[in-house]
Amino acid sequence: MTRPRKNLPGTHVTSHAPCYGDPGFAIADDQWDTGKDLFDLCAPLLYVCGGCPYRAPCIRQVVPAKNEFDGICGGRIWLNGAIVYTLPDADPGELPAPVIRKACGTAAGSRAHRRAVEQQCPKCLPFYRPGPNPLDAEDETSQQLELPDVA
Ligand code: SF4
Ligand SMILES: [Zn+2]
Repeated sequence: MTRPRKNLPGTHVTSHAPCYGDPGFAIADDQWDTGKDLFDLCAPLLYVCGGCPYRAPCIRQVVPAKNEFDGICGGRIWLNGAIVYTLPDADPGELPAPVIRKACGTAAGSRAHRRAVEQQCPKCLPFYRPGPNPLDAEDETSQQLELPDVA
């Protein structure tokens, strides 16, 4: 679910942000149905984040993982609080600092960081494996729902 922004539409951090006032950065829930629809709305605008020096503060302010955010934030496209696309030059260090858990230093610890969409701690980093992209899961579901051709 998209949470309302505190400031003007499209303003995540400051009026100096390149997305300031751009309604494309405040996508309403009724503008899209599937994750693919959302991606198609966001992808043409994502380049704007490419020159933005506020990517880390943007993510800290929106807290997309916790708020199950949909849309563009911090150089990434988010669906239900998960990242579905990241700008190639985005740095994992822009994500929130890792919470240290008992499982740190194991694959489970690494997965916990990944689920929280935070940085990997140094002990978990060797265990890091990218997670599934929710858009891929959506593709599989739609393929499963396709009716077989009837000759
Ligand atoms: S990172 Fe992107 S969404 Fe966030 S303030 Fe910068 S341009 Fe706007
Ligand atoms: Zn860890």
